[in-house]
Amino acid sequence: MSPTSSSPDSNAAASAGPVTRFAPSPSGHLHVGGARTALFCWAFARGRGGKFLLRIEDTDQKRSSDAASVGFLKDLDWLGIDWNEGPEFTRPDGTIVGGGPHGPYFQSERLDIYNRYIDQLVREGKAYFAFDTPEELDAKRKAATAAKLAYRYDRAALKLSPAEVEANLKAGKPAVVRCKVPAGAITIHDLILGDATLPDGEVDDFVIRKVDGFPTYHFAVVVDDELMQVTHVLRAQEHFTNTAKHMVLQDALGFRRPTYGHLPIISNPDGSKMSKRDKDKALRAAVQAKGLTAPPTGTVAQERWTKWLGDKNVQLDFDDALRLAEALDVTLPEINVDDFKRSGYLPEVVCNFLALNGWSPGENVEKFDTAFLQQRFDLPRVQKTAAKFDRMKLLAFNCDAITGMDRERYVKLVREHGERYHPEFLQRLTADQFRMLADASHERSKTLEDLYKGNRWVVIADDKLAWEDSKNVRKAMLDGSPRGVDRLRELQPSLNAVGAWLAADIEAVVKGYADQHCEGQIGKVAQPLRVAVTGGTVSPPIFDTLAILGKASAMKRIERCLSTMA
Ligand code: GLU
Repeated sequence: MSPTSSSPDSNAAASAGPVTRFAPSPSGHLHVGGARTALFCWAFARGRGGKFLLRIEDTDQKRSSDAASVGFLKDLDWLGIDWNEGPEFTRPDGTIVGGGPHGPYFQSERLDIYNRYIDQLVREGKAYFAFDTPEELDAKRKAATAAKLAYRYDRAALKLSPAEVEANLKAGKPAVVRCKVPAGAITIHDLILGDATLPDGEVDDFVIRKVDGFPTYHFAVVVDDELMQVTHVLRAQEHFTNTAKHMVLQDALGFRRPTYGHLPIISNPDGSKMSKRDKDKALRAAVQAKGLTAPPTGTVAQERWTKWLGDKNVQLDFDDALRLAEALDVTLPEINVDDFKRSGYLPEVVCNFLALNGWSPGENVEKFDTAFLQQRFDLPRVQKTAAKFDRMKLLAFNCDAITGMDRERYVKLVREHGERYHPEFLQRLTADQFRMLADASHERSKTLEDLYKGNRWVVIADDKLAWEDSKNVRKAMLDGSPRGVDRLRELQPSLNAVGAWLAADIEAVVKGYADQHCEGQIGKVAQPLRVAVTGGTVSPPIFDTLAILGKASAMKRIERCLSTMA
């Protein structure tokens, strides 16, 4: 038997432009690493006049969910990664993407197709039923470990006669189907990593259909890549050695061999995996730093809290983590595409930044759009080693993009972000007030979230506003003579008399007061006013702040502040 080998350009369909695919298993959310794979597949195909396909690999019944699949589609759409073929998806603007001649694009709907090919392999003697119980396999695995040998399936099932196999199947004995792997070394050609040869015997007779009747990932991926005419498989490095199994199956089924390129992982700067657990880690650190022993009210239930603090392996669910992060003023490390969206990153910035994680166009070019990426993306410039995810750099990119965009676009985007994540702001403010807040926030914003994060005072109920216990607040309100609160009390009636409550009218009154009582030093009264209505010393310009709140709210807060502090 001659060695099996993949050859890069053995694909006849290559002349029509490459066909790539992104094939996520929809458990949980779309991770940045997955998004980067999708982006590279998309750019590679589109930049060469080819097609980008999306296929949902949901054959792992326990781990897949419909909600996750829809979430993946939304996340890709948000990033601007559209698919020529794949699940149908209605975009927010009502247009539909997806569909195509090679569907269905959910593997769970393709079982008949896989079974046809599995039956064929069994008929041809290239695959066989195996009835080994999990206990039997486990014992053999343990024996191999004890003997310090790598475990390989021993082909026990091949010793069964056809009659025994038939009888077992008739009796309904749980069965898997295994691929009969031919002898010989296997050489994987990879356009990024180069060649690697697996010696004879390294790949044992692996399972292609599970006891539950579903094909394994290896089998489904090979069948689908062939039927969907995929020419280039770009995927995560963790799949590199799986390629050998895929090549065995391609040979057994008489399929073409796609070209392979395995992409480096994206890790945290310290080399650790970017994982959901990082969020718990950040929260635990904040809890510890603050010396908290009980959960802040309205965050995590006491019982859950105790379990979580007591065991590093316990993770908070997403909503609990979010509530706790807000209470502790912690920004959760973003891991999934949806996290970046929630944190107020722009999709074009995320794409730009992700592209730099594992690839670069060279010539010190760092900022580019996806049209440029399509034009320039190539496999030789993809790095082999892990890419380190630099959050500060991403934030700087996002800040440049936000502060650099025109005001109208910012207002539109920041409003959309609020509609999705902070509807309470839009309920609380009139269109004019919101616009004022946006005008005041634009230049100081690194993310779309900043407007909301930095201005919680807007949506706090007037009778719930609490004043910061800080040096700056005490200085503004209680130091000196007259004290800030005294000036405020003096100013209160004139403010109350302002009719239209426009920033300019408020300004005229406050200036008038400052000229008369503070030698024109407006800060002497502006800062006490700011503290009174926002609870702290940082907010947009004071006259805007007051106008944004509206007169009733502002006057109530001033009154409450005076009766609390003075
Ligand atoms: N479903 C696999 C995953 O999510 C895809 C592997 C592949 O691209 O072949 O990792």
